[in-house]
Amino acid sequence: MDRRQFLTSLLACPVCAATANAADGPHWEYEGDHGASKWGDMDPKFKACSVGAEQSPIDLTAAIRASGDHIGISWKAEAYEVVNNGHTIQLNAKAGGTLTIGARKYEMKQFHFHTPSEHAVDGKRTAMEVHFVHATPEGRLAVIGVLMVGGGKNTAFSTIMANAPKKEGSAMLKDKMVPDAFLPKTREYFRYEGSLTTPPCAEVVDWNVFGKTIAVADKDIAAFKALFPMNARPLQPLNRRFLLRGV
Ligand SMILES: [Zn+2]
Repeated sequence: MDRRQFLTSLLACPVCAATANAADGPHWEYEGDHGASKWGDMDPKFKACSVGAEQSPIDLTAAIRASGDHIGISWKAEAYEVVNNGHTIQLNAKAGGTLTIGARKYEMKQFHFHTPSEHAVDGKRTAMEVHFVHATPEGRLAVIGVLMVGGGKNTAFSTIMANAPKKEGSAMLKDKMVPDAFLPKTREYFRYEGSLTTPPCAEVVDWNVFGKTIAVADKDIAAFKALFPMNARPLQPLNRRFLLRGV
């Protein structure tokens, strides 16, 4: 069992941890008394948030060029459940579809949004970031991150924001949607081993963040910010990790 598998086995249900509602567990926020710098002290289960050495997000800079494992995305069209969980707007998948990285196969569980982007490229954050969370049956996680900018048009994101509950709660999309609309045309990516960016900050995530941005409508970014003005964790040190860049 490698270190990642060991850490995964400690977490009863990593996807549950990644999708927990605000009502579950200690109350955390991004700023103030329950803000990101306090997460590690709030609960013994959140300890990795302060002592972990492989945390996320990070600044994507000075990456090592590598011909890494190919990313294969095959998401399914679905009328997703749209949830306001108190921390973000999240789309829960039933069927989801698959992500393959090399020989490893994951199933898509949910995707959700942050503003500003959690990852930065050369120190710069963008308006937003979407995270597609995938898991293996053993609970190993792989997240696809896509950086979002304004000044564009994206029907899928407009539909999501039009249906997003204004308070904690959930709704169903009326029509099926394929989230491929959130993928940039070119698939250069940054890859590194990191953590959940929310408590418990478990270090069980294989991160793949695309190097190119996608453009969405300014009004949809404004609609998201009206619900969540800031839901991005501060950048974490790379420490002794490799940051790879591949195509
Ligand atoms: Zn996220």
